[in-house]
Amino acid sequence: MIIMSKKDKSEAEKLRDELFLSRKNGCLVLEEEEIKKADEFCEPYKKFLNKAKTEREVVEYAIKAAKKEGFTEFDVEKKYKAGDRIYYNNRNKAVIFAVVGKDKTKNGVRIAAAHIDSPRLDLKPFPLYEKNDLALFKTHYYGGIKKYQWPAMPLALHGKVVRKDGSTVNVTLGEDAGDPCFCVTDLLPHLAGEQMSKTMVKGFTGEDLNVLIGSRPFRDDKESDLVKLNIMRLIHEKYNIVEADFLSAELNLVPAFPARDIGFDRSMIGAYGHDDRVCAYTAFEAILHCKSPERTVLTVLGDKEEVGSDGNTGLNSEFMRYFIADLAIQDKEEPRHVLSKSTCLSADVNAAFDPTYASVYEPGNSCYINNGVVITKYTGHGGKYDTSDACAEYMAEIRELLDSNKVLWQSGELGKVDGGGGGTVAKFIANLNIDVVDLGVPVLSMHAPFEIVSKIDVYMAYRAFYEFFMQK
Ligand code: MN
Ligand code: MN
Repeated sequence: MIIMSKKDKSEAEKLRDELFLSRKNGCLVLEEEEIKKADEFCEPYKKFLNKAKTEREVVEYAIKAAKKEGFTEFDVEKKYKAGDRIYYNNRNKAVIFAVVGKDKTKNGVRIAAAHIDSPRLDLKPFPLYEKNDLALFKTHYYGGIKKYQWPAMPLALHGKVVRKDGSTVNVTLGEDAGDPCFCVTDLLPHLAGEQMSKTMVKGFTGEDLNVLIGSRPFRDDKESDLVKLNIMRLIHEKYNIVEADFLSAELNLVPAFPARDIGFDRSMIGAYGHDDRVCAYTAFEAILHCKSPERTVLTVLGDKEEVGSDGNTGLNSEFMRYFIADLAIQDKEEPRHVLSKSTCLSADVNAAFDPTYASVYEPGNSCYINNGVVITKYTGHGGKYDTSDACAEYMAEIRELLDSNKVLWQSGELGKVDGGGGGTVAKFIANLNIDVVDLGVPVLSMHAPFEIVSKIDVYMAYRAFYEFFMQK
């Protein structure tokens, strides 16, 4: 980073520079070349956002891209040497990429762990029904959403259906301009007097999140449920599935619009699901470009973070620990010793200060758009409940790492004390006796169908993960 103004400074200014930590807007302190690199880095990121909107799609995208860069599927029987590039696919919903280091696992591994699930509407096990000549899907929302944000906008259907015989069908409908899409209806303001007088939590409920999928009946006037029948007939024609197959399916409704540049200056990107695909993408790009690290490095893309990380594809399960143990055993190291020497960046987003909602933030301890990657020492709620509070020693290491590599960073807490709270996968990884701290990208409108990040911050996240992997 170069400070642009080089005018003679007063004693107070010099002292201030020496003693105070000041926030730095990347647009003012980075070289123009670096800002250009950030803009360029974000072009393929937008394509990724449009291509991979669910955890399954991210796993598919990432494995395909990694294979081109020499990654092969992990085989516990094989012996790996420094420089080898491997991946472990957990049920097509979570994945670990690793590059074997010169020291193997002797001194611990370095982990960047992001999540690839985002808030959305999942279809219920038996979703299809007809009411008053309209066909609809019942949904069960996934993750922390403000329900009123989801009606009256185009939704696309993504997911996978597994038939009884094990055969599968992948569904992506609503993304291409020529595709039909779907929608939750909203109430017209003329008749919404009662709805509008309710609190925002009660104005639109989970059971109101019904998705409109058709209106034309099967042309036969003797039966009931003719619209449902006609829609099921069309679904059967297109995907060769019957109603019972919905039970063995994972179908998700996500916003149908693509990622877009935001602002006259195109400095930001608006898109569905930056949280946490922005850290997943940057941590993944970092390991793709990581050639011969000292230690073995891992990019872990987990599932289920938005619902608490439980389940066998979430980071509260053992899959990452088992993978590291398998590597340690190969190197004739004791797995628990490898874990205790390992370090991790929990790669997740934080809430960027929003002047429209300034009252929920503490300005001195918030993160800001364009101020670089944000280090979050602890998340949680109340008196630091439900979190991993990174230790001072590890914080110092990370500061030194970022400063010495000229990565623009800032520190941020999630809102005011007792203002609410949240968590990440950091605490589950810390529970394995690994040093971990949250590091990621500031986001405006987090968990809304259209979230916003700054291009400079996205690039700085990539640089942070890369330098973390490459450190001596
Ligand atoms: Mn997240
Ligand atoms: Mn989240």
